Amino acid sequence: MESNRKCLICGCEEIGKGRLTGYAVMVPIKGNVFNTGSETIADICTACGHILSMRVEKPEKFK
Ligand SMILES: [Zn+2]
Repeated sequence: MESNRKCLICGCEEIGKGRLTGYAVMVPIKGNVFNTGSETIADICTACGHILSMRVEKPEKFK
C-alpha cells in the first residue's frame, strides 16, 4: 500500500514519513475537553519536500 507511491511534483518514489507533534496535534473542533486529539502523520517526498498526504494517527477520535 505504501510502496508504489510517487511524488506528483518531481516524480521521486522515495517517500518518507513525518510526524507533527507538540503544538501541531490535531484535535476535534467539537467534543469534550479531555479529548487529546491525535498526532498528525505526513508522507513527504524525500527529494523536493512536497507533502503527499497528511492524516491523523487516531481518526476514531474525530467521530
Ligand atoms: Zn518530490
